[in-house]
Amino acid sequence: MNSKYEIVIGLEVHVQLTTASKIFCGCSTRFGASPNSQTCPVCLGLPGALPVLNRRAVEMAIMAGLATRCTIAERSVFARKNYFYPDLPKGYQISQFELPVCVHGRLEIETEGGGKKSVGITRIHMEEDAGKLLHPDSPAAGSVSYVDLNRACTPLLEVVSEPDMRSSDEAVAYLKKLHQIVVYLGVCDGNMEEGSFRCDANVSIRPWGQKEFGTRAEIKNVNSFRFVKQAIDYEVERQAELIEEGGKVVQETRLFDPNTGMTRSMRGKEEAHDYRYFPDPDLVPLVISPEWVEQVRLGLPELPEAKIERFVGEYALPRYDAEVLSADRALADYFEAAVAAGANPKAGSNWVMGEVTRALNAEGIDIERSPVSPQMLAGMLRRIDDGTISGKIAKTVFDEMWKSGKEADAIIEEKGLKQVTDTGAIEAVIDEILAANPGQVEEYRSGKEKVFGFFVGQVMKASKGKANPAAVNELLKKKLNM
Ligand code: ADP
Ligand code: MG
Ligand code: ZN
Repeated sequence: MNSKYEIVIGLEVHVQLTTASKIFCGCSTRFGASPNSQTCPVCLGLPGALPVLNRRAVEMAIMAGLATRCTIAERSVFARKNYFYPDLPKGYQISQFELPVCVHGRLEIETEGGGKKSVGITRIHMEEDAGKLLHPDSPAAGSVSYVDLNRACTPLLEVVSEPDMRSSDEAVAYLKKLHQIVVYLGVCDGNMEEGSFRCDANVSIRPWGQKEFGTRAEIKNVNSFRFVKQAIDYEVERQAELIEEGGKVVQETRLFDPNTGMTRSMRGKEEAHDYRYFPDPDLVPLVISPEWVEQVRLGLPELPEAKIERFVGEYALPRYDAEVLSADRALADYFEAAVAAGANPKAGSNWVMGEVTRALNAEGIDIERSPVSPQMLAGMLRRIDDGTISGKIAKTVFDEMWKSGKEADAIIEEKGLKQVTDTGAIEAVIDEILAANPGQVEEYRSGKEKVFGFFVGQVMKASKGKANPAAVNELLKKKLNM
């Protein structure tokens, strides 16, 4: 990274809301339907059709605003942003401009050094999405493009940050935090590949100590966390080189190309649109009463930061565990359900972060669809606690639960996996092993204590892993030292 310049970044994030219907009409927002099957006169922009605001979308905007400590505006206004493009049938996009629904929020991020930093949120406004252009590149299709208006009129939030970030890592941390919050709230599915969460990055640099910001470039639609970092890092280098060569950064919109890792100019300031914003006469101002805000506040789910604190306090988990579990709301719920069903919290946490996550990843499924329920996991952990099975055998039981969907008790019974704690039985096995390995016994007794592990292994193997490890250790020591 160039050390002569300070980096300044502000992000504009588009969050697609999870409402069942569109923001100004009743059409479905479902992804992947056949082109133009989810349209009506309103979202097709037919003359005379009038928009009606979706109440649920407003609720989601309030939720996002509250979770990012914004002030919710009692009165906000929808405006027309005018421009011409084939994916925009009305010739304007309905958006909020001068009076957005949420203002003056902030988000806490962790910085590289492990410190905390507050990033300001300038505003959150509501708007409708445009349609999608399809450019088939097969020769058979000829030189045509198609318009799919299923996405037109889908509700979006645009979250605009202050230019508070000072590195690409901070930008990614902010983006991940925002992503986590909207997914936690359930207002966005978070799917970046499908475009449900997309980001424009504004980047500038300035010599250290300079007060004024440098001229920024805006990089459009960077659709993964990795690309955001790459795009910013590239852009910073480009601007620094330009200045070093005596050039000047010009204000422009640039596009990131994931194939080359570079950004290239899309349009300059001169070609920037004059959107001729004005209040949409078809929509009355949006009025949100303080009572409505309070009602939404009461319905907010617990957010990650609060959950982490609670997990540390209530279950005495290490902070690391609390953070891993709280990163995903469903994972945290699974863990808590297991504890509610009687699992020891630390053991439960270990298993959820370990075996459960591993098995889910191996099959590529979400925790909601885990064949081992939290109750089943708890049932198995109780059998470790009461000494019925060892931690090692538990792995076998878990795999079997995963495959068969049966309870731990049934599997332990069927497969005869009960731990052998009967000292008589263990002693008999030990005697056999010692008799069969006189050489190693000699070594041990002459001071080579390392072979102890060999004996433990042999006994466990002979008992098919079922001998109680503590008992094996104790009895082996006794017999070898005789
Ligand atoms: P526009 O609507 O034209 O994109 P805004 O003034 O709303 O312009 O700013 C958009 C984003 O650009 C905000 O996130 C803001 O923090 C960021 N930004 C503004 N100035 C700079 C700058 N000099 N360097 C980096 N980011 C900036
Ligand atoms: Mg912008
Ligand atoms: Zn419609």
